[in-house]
Amino acid sequence: MIQFEQVGKRYANGHVGLHELSFHVRTGEFVFITGHSGAGKSTLLRLLLAMERPTSGKLLLAGQDLSGITTAQIPFLRRQIGVVFQNHQLLFDRTVFDNVALPLQILGLDKVEIARRVRAALEQVSLQDKIRQYPGDLSTGQQQRVGIARAVVHQPALLLADEPTGNLDPRLAAEIMGVFEDINRHGTTVLIASHDLALIARMRQRMITLQRGRLIGDGEAA
Ligand code: ADP
Ligand code: ADP
Repeated sequence: MIQFEQVGKRYANGHVGLHELSFHVRTGEFVFITGHSGAGKSTLLRLLLAMERPTSGKLLLAGQDLSGITTAQIPFLRRQIGVVFQNHQLLFDRTVFDNVALPLQILGLDKVEIARRVRAALEQVSLQDKIRQYPGDLSTGQQQRVGIARAVVHQPALLLADEPTGNLDPRLAAEIMGVFEDINRHGTTVLIASHDLALIARMRQRMITLQRGRLIGDGEAA
């Protein structure tokens, strides 16, 4: 599903985000990307979303070469990807339903189909009973679960998350990781950037470690 082949990213100001990075992720895998601040985790996610282009090497997502992707192709790429942010970026003046429905409204799906898929996504994160409430009425962990429902409502092949447990206490963080594992078991490839090593170590999933833009470790977290 993901192929990094000697991918380099040098920013216009001379900073090196990634240095000849190579690794593969197969469909259905669950992978953590870890490393200290500045290691290149966000750069890696932004390259997969085509928010940035590699300056060298080759990056393929589901067979598509992201080095040469055109602006017109980007919306089609993004349909295959769901993104979860640390700050879930929910709209507090809209209901849970409306927040989760937003990506489907942008895709122009009809109302019946939108309602069906929003209910299914909320069931996946065990929040079907909160559908009419507002994010402000929910706990922090519940809000993050709404963010996850919104990221998977269009049934993406790949789910990306950038420090999704950064604001949560350890118990809630473990619960949120359980939600990601559940989504992964249903077939979605999951890639999570996180520096919460204690939590990652308990999960026994593949962990790719970056340091100053280079890969320094790839294997099951222990
Ligand atoms: P210059 O001095 O050449 O203008 P800067 O260091 O100011 O370069 O950065 C140029 C752009 O890159 C700015 O928009 C800045 O916000 C962004 N930038 C610089 N360093 C980082 C960083 N570590 N993380 C994210 N963005 C950065
Ligand atoms: P992490 O997410 O692991 O903290 P980043 O990908 O944000 O790492 O940063 C990797 C390197 O790339 C750092 O040296 C950072 O300063 C640089 N960098 C990241 N974003 C920008 C940017 N927009 N402009 C310039 N330099 C950047």
